[in-house]
Amino acid sequence: MSTFKAPKGTYDLTPPDSAKYLAVREALSAPLKNSGYGYIETPGFEDVALFSRGVGESTDIVSKEMYTLTTKGGSELALRPEGTASVLRAALEANLHKLGNLPVKLWYSGSYYRYERPQKGRYRHFSQVGAEAIGAEDPALDAELIILADQAYRTLGLQNFRILLNSLGDKECRPIYRDALQEFLRELDLDDDTRRRIDLNPLRVLDDKRPEVQKQLVGAPVLRDYLCDACKAYHEEVRDLLTAAGVVYEDDEKLVRGLDYYTRTTFEFVHDGLGSQSAVGGGGRYDGLSEMIGGPALPSVGWALGVDRTVLALEAEGIELELPSSTSVFAVPLGEEARRVLFAKVTELRRVGVAADFAFGGRGLKGAMKSANRSGARFTVVAGERDLAEGVVQLKDMESGEQQAVALDALVAEVRQKLA
Ligand code: ATP
Ligand code: MG
Repeated sequence: MSTFKAPKGTYDLTPPDSAKYLAVREALSAPLKNSGYGYIETPGFEDVALFSRGVGESTDIVSKEMYTLTTKGGSELALRPEGTASVLRAALEANLHKLGNLPVKLWYSGSYYRYERPQKGRYRHFSQVGAEAIGAEDPALDAELIILADQAYRTLGLQNFRILLNSLGDKECRPIYRDALQEFLRELDLDDDTRRRIDLNPLRVLDDKRPEVQKQLVGAPVLRDYLCDACKAYHEEVRDLLTAAGVVYEDDEKLVRGLDYYTRTTFEFVHDGLGSQSAVGGGGRYDGLSEMIGGPALPSVGWALGVDRTVLALEAEGIELELPSSTSVFAVPLGEEARRVLFAKVTELRRVGVAADFAFGGRGLKGAMKSANRSGARFTVVAGERDLAEGVVQLKDMESGEQQAVALDALVAEVRQKLA
């Protein structure tokens, strides 16, 4: 223990558990890499206005949860609370939309920061894998992303998750719905904060989880009844494509999501084993965002999946990922000469691609064998003075317990053959 602790609402990833997080990130991104998405990385902070304009002043993310800072040079920055606005900003800046065919398909993985009330599944620093398909209005693209997320969760072995689907309409039909909803909400008995929200972001009121609010929302106008013909047809096509792909979803007309930029398709992946932090991922179409941040019209769709909550979901379902041991061979030297000889062998093994480790620190045989066990290595190589005098090392198979003398010169070849 040092004098310091990880800041409130954050936690460290340390071995061996950290391997699970790496595997989850890998599994969440694998379907994207297999589907034409290119990797993009953006800075951990951006001009604060990118988020206030892009994500929206009236959202919780911007109004309550953003970490903002003023630099010594006087710039107003924010630690990124989400990925979409940054990725779109970067794609526009690099002119990716002008270089080749649309859509530009991108994936990313990284840390995000939100000043939230910390609780299980809700942290101030968390990790997401995300995907954005920029510059095409095509229901097959919306369907593709939902299908790929479904595939990612399934390859991890998750079963108890559900896909919630809705359409938020577009700039033609949503304003008409918004008016109708505002009219309905203004008649309700609500606190001042919620009343303010009716003006700023009335759809968000539908998302209020409090029972006393939910009770009053029965009978509220639903967006589905207001969708224009184009939005209706688009949504039907997304639903048909998902059904054809065998992906099961639930229509959820209350699903609005917390960001202002969504239009038409919105979806969320919820896991039933996570209590109130049930959303493991979410996304949707954001046809107006590019123009909101000063770019050309680029209809787009994307999602972000939470790595932390996906790990919690695995735990909730009792799923143990099969993680290959990171070390194949562990070398245990007995004596000074053996140290030099085996250290050289470890280097040689590593150079040919065999994961190998070494008993550092000159501890005795017992301690070294403990380290060998803990490393999970399939083989240990032990050598003392007598072995070296005979030109051999002792190769022990940690699974079967069998041990054999192997000529020093043949060791690397022998190990590679056994591991193949
Ligand atoms: P919630 O409704 O739980 O606050 P959200 O709608 O704010 O979620 P998104 O902005 O859609 O979340 O982010 C996508 C995913 O990132 C979420 O589904 C969740 O898995 C994860 N996530 C978001 N905020 C946090 C957080 N504070 N801690 C851990 N994971 C988070
Ligand atoms: Mg949130």
